[in-house]
Amino acid sequence: MACSCHSKPRKTRTVKVGRYSIGGSSPVSVQSMCNTDTRDLKATVDQIRRLEDAGCEIIRVAVPDMQAAENLGRIKAAIGIPLVADIHFDWRLAVEAVRQGVDKVRINPGNIGEKDKVRAVVKACKAAGVPIRIGVNAGSMKCLKEGQSPRWTSYEWAKRMVKEALDEARTLERLDFHDIVVSLKADDIERTVMANTLFAAKSDIPLHLGVTEAGSFLAGTVKSSLGIGLLLSQGIGDTVRVSLTEDPVMQVRAAYEILKSLGLRHYGPDLISCPTCGRCQVNVGKVIHELEDRIYSDRALLKKAEGLKIAVMGCVVNGPGEARSADFGVAGGKGKGVWIEKGKQIKVVPEREWVNEVIRKIRSAK
Ligand code: SF4
Repeated sequence: MACSCHSKPRKTRTVKVGRYSIGGSSPVSVQSMCNTDTRDLKATVDQIRRLEDAGCEIIRVAVPDMQAAENLGRIKAAIGIPLVADIHFDWRLAVEAVRQGVDKVRINPGNIGEKDKVRAVVKACKAAGVPIRIGVNAGSMKCLKEGQSPRWTSYEWAKRMVKEALDEARTLERLDFHDIVVSLKADDIERTVMANTLFAAKSDIPLHLGVTEAGSFLAGTVKSSLGIGLLLSQGIGDTVRVSLTEDPVMQVRAAYEILKSLGLRHYGPDLISCPTCGRCQVNVGKVIHELEDRIYSDRALLKKAEGLKIAVMGCVVNGPGEARSADFGVAGGKGKGVWIEKGKQIKVVPEREWVNEVIRKIRSAK
């Protein structure tokens, strides 16, 4: 679905990643990355399952050594979404990851080294039908000498990032390998947006969007929303990862909120709540947090709640009026509240039962 503020999406090739496609006419997909130790099977699988419940569609894990690479098959067998191996430097880890059955490999061919090594990775990926993401990050470009921090303008940075991505893509294409996704990330909006815009004008390779090392939940979400949002609103971008120093579940939720606000994806309910004021005698914040925790950790409930507008208001003075546009909701009194459906006051519900009542109502929604 496209919204009115959204330019026509850029035409890209389609790249299959397990059961999802990136680019072409596919919806913009949501990715995240585990922050567990990939060698720890239980912790990694538990985290991926929580991410799946929150709607994550593609998950990436770091592969720092052979022990981690050899764990990928077991992780893959225990999860339901495509698994991406994040490889730096060692081509043998990429080849092992493919052997373990991963659905995509993220490398930077420049880091892999000699042509023979890149060729071995490409050969393994091609035989297994596994795509490669070329990830170019501003801070670790090949053209930078160690410790170098050049005083380039954002445009100069962006041009160099694009050149590096195109050179790397050409290396793969010369080996007749075309299942490529590219990412161009910087830790600021200007370089990220410029690099992706320049690249989009030069290539049909799908783009994985993100602002790298975006920061804490609030700062990172704002930065990512602007950077990713600016690109998506120009029709640029095929898959998204919001990078936050946070539980990866919040990265998934933030990514969907960006896509939802641009009219590109549906995701969960529209939960509205008042900011509270001196009239409020119920704990609106606690109710909203409990509701979010319940809904965003239950895939079936999340799906059921899609498109529903649910209101939690702090008082009966303004609450019922402000909740009028909601499908249903509650407006507080003291220890209890008025239950409202489509603007009509239906019954009184004790405050301790609000969350359960909303959940019951979502489950019974058509
Ligand atoms: S709904 Fe009531 S409690 Fe909430 S901000 Fe409005 S007046 Fe205040």
